[in-house]
Amino acid sequence: MRLGSRSSKWYFIVAVAVSMVSTSVGQKVLRAGTAAKKESTKNVEWVNTGLDAGETRYSSLDQINTSNVSRLGLAWYYDTHSALGALEATPVVSNGIMYGTLSWSMVFAVDAQTGKELWRFDPKLGRQNFPLGPDGTPDPTKPRTGPSPCCGAVNRGVVVYNGKIYVGTLDGRLIALDAKTGKIDWQVHTTDPDSDYTITGAPRIAGDKVIIGNGGGEYALRGYVTAYDAETGRQAWRFYTVPGDPSKPFENKAMAMAAKTWTGNVWYKMGGGANAWDAFAYDPDLDLVYFGTGNGGPYPQIVRSPEGGDNLFICSILAVRASTGEYVWHYQVVPSDEWDYDSVQSLILANLNIDGKARKVIMQASKDGYFYVLDRTNGKFISAVPIVKVTWTTGLDPKTGRPNIPASSFYDRNSAGVWLTPSGGGVHNWHPMSFNPNTGLAYVPAGSGGSEWFAVDPSFKFKEGNFNWAQLRNPPTMINGIRAMAKQNTPPPPGMNEADGEAVARPAGATSPGAAANTSALGRSFLVAWDPVTQKAAWSVPGLNGGGTVTTAGNLVFAESNDGHLVALSADKGSKLWEFKLIPGLASPMTYMIDGKQYVSILGGGTGNGRLFTFALDANTPLPAPAASAHGSSAPAYTEEQATRGKAAYAQSCTVCHGDTLAGIGENPALTGSTFSATWNGHSAGDLFELIRTTMPKGSPNTLKPDVYTDILAYIMQVNKMPAGQDELKNDPAALDRVIISVGNGDLPRDAGQARPGPR
Ligand code: CA
Repeated sequence: MRLGSRSSKWYFIVAVAVSMVSTSVGQKVLRAGTAAKKESTKNVEWVNTGLDAGETRYSSLDQINTSNVSRLGLAWYYDTHSALGALEATPVVSNGIMYGTLSWSMVFAVDAQTGKELWRFDPKLGRQNFPLGPDGTPDPTKPRTGPSPCCGAVNRGVVVYNGKIYVGTLDGRLIALDAKTGKIDWQVHTTDPDSDYTITGAPRIAGDKVIIGNGGGEYALRGYVTAYDAETGRQAWRFYTVPGDPSKPFENKAMAMAAKTWTGNVWYKMGGGANAWDAFAYDPDLDLVYFGTGNGGPYPQIVRSPEGGDNLFICSILAVRASTGEYVWHYQVVPSDEWDYDSVQSLILANLNIDGKARKVIMQASKDGYFYVLDRTNGKFISAVPIVKVTWTTGLDPKTGRPNIPASSFYDRNSAGVWLTPSGGGVHNWHPMSFNPNTGLAYVPAGSGGSEWFAVDPSFKFKEGNFNWAQLRNPPTMINGIRAMAKQNTPPPPGMNEADGEAVARPAGATSPGAAANTSALGRSFLVAWDPVTQKAAWSVPGLNGGGTVTTAGNLVFAESNDGHLVALSADKGSKLWEFKLIPGLASPMTYMIDGKQYVSILGGGTGNGRLFTFALDANTPLPAPAASAHGSSAPAYTEEQATRGKAAYAQSCTVCHGDTLAGIGENPALTGSTFSATWNGHSAGDLFELIRTTMPKGSPNTLKPDVYTDILAYIMQVNKMPAGQDELKNDPAALDRVIISVGNGDLPRDAGQARPGPR
């Protein structure tokens, strides 16, 4: 292709930037000043999960653009052989090598031009937390082998810096690997190995430091962010996000300030939450690291801070000095949060012209439904508008941005609980958004957020190692009668569809030039192009909130459909220009250039069938179905009697989230139908058994007797029309691994029950 002068200049800039970022880039990267002349050796890397320090996911590559994206084809794929769990990482590319993470914090390195595997790294995590005793409940006499992840053994990627690959592992380690060999250079425990802290987010680089947060709010653990010297692993600073025991000296003035917003004397004994488990951004000019914090723990404020208070810094956006870890400013997105409206979603830095003034802003499309724009120099509120209809607040103070949260939204003040929109699953979760400076639009993979019933769990007792929610959401008691009471006291909001538990709110002012005819999907999930200056939707397309987005100088946005298509749209208008069927459960795409050729890559799939897909213009590599992952057979492996027992157990423990028909509810995946078959066909019953046992029932995994898990599995097999036989499915790992799942596609609609796993 021919490059215009603007593009050539860009490549010059990139080549300079790249050679500064990494001294080991090698011969493929041009020396500064020659890039414009030798197109065939141009290389443009993607070393940070959000691409740049401002996390824009905007690539200045334009070789693939609106005029030729229809010629995009598969260049290569890589079967990741990932273990059970979803894939959520954005791959990165440096020095011709692509790096990424799989479930269970595994790291891979492949040739970015061919997909040939170069090395893999397995941190060898313990794959269960409390080993089961004979009665099927955790046995306190056996050593635990790892933390209890709230939401699957996922990982959202690595960062590359100065010849090292950094990964945070599920068991709380930060590991620096040699980029060439995958061998450990250094590793540190960033959390207490005997606790339930987890790491699923990608590390970031700020100056010469590597920054890492953690998860654990669902266990009420005290959140914090730590910076380490990237070269040596020596700790540089740690910033706690909620105060500790006020009878002891506070770590800093910010903690003393925060402690004044807490009441009672229990939060610091349990932990308090506010974990920074996903988004970070960095402004090197301001020397600021930004991050979002999650829910307070336990969820209901009456349990953690009985006399109320804002509970700083839960559900907040914070800025700390990158060099020292010193507090600089905060904006609390949801004061007193008790709905799990984590404020950890993508943080993007941009320079916008607002009311005639150039503003340095930070942006977030929140789980709580609003799109926030703040001044990133001082944290001052600029504007926020809800993407969809929400009911938790009656609106924000236009000067301070503080939301007015009516008493009727607090379920700990309403004995019958409350209906609210959005649900705790939220309108926009970890799925990365992107921002294109040419269009001025942010591309948010979002959803209606649904509506949810929240109530205090009256039987709650804090217990280390357990989910410490203290909250009921759409609980069984509701189905058994409280629902009627709830409807009397706090009727579902207008537009609430009680049949499927989803709101039908639409993006405010949205139009849908690229939309399919099925507008009902708009209420469930959509990709919205949001203008942060006017705070309005420019366009939206239903059904596109699979993983995350990347946008380019080629006027493109890449996004994913819920049923596993990678889709390219024009960035300015949202016209669909290209799509390619891959696999359900796509993560977030990225793009890079090697030897003058632009590529687009994305991870997808999950348990056993995870793949890395890479596209280029005019490529046409065939894509075979994933190979069966194990030796075994689909011969009858359970009995009708066992399935009947399993049906009863399912009704008791699973129906509330997965539905009577196993069709899934909200973000709880379908256990039958096309998504289920695409995910599980060819994989062993042992894999499915382990996933169910280690994550279910939600809130108290590992608590059913082993035989009950096999019974439920038998019932799932029966519903999926796998034939019954003479022998029961046994709780024996070797036997379970020999049973291969083979089910039909079912007839569920395209995005019914699509799993959107990951921390909440
Ligand atoms: Ca949370």
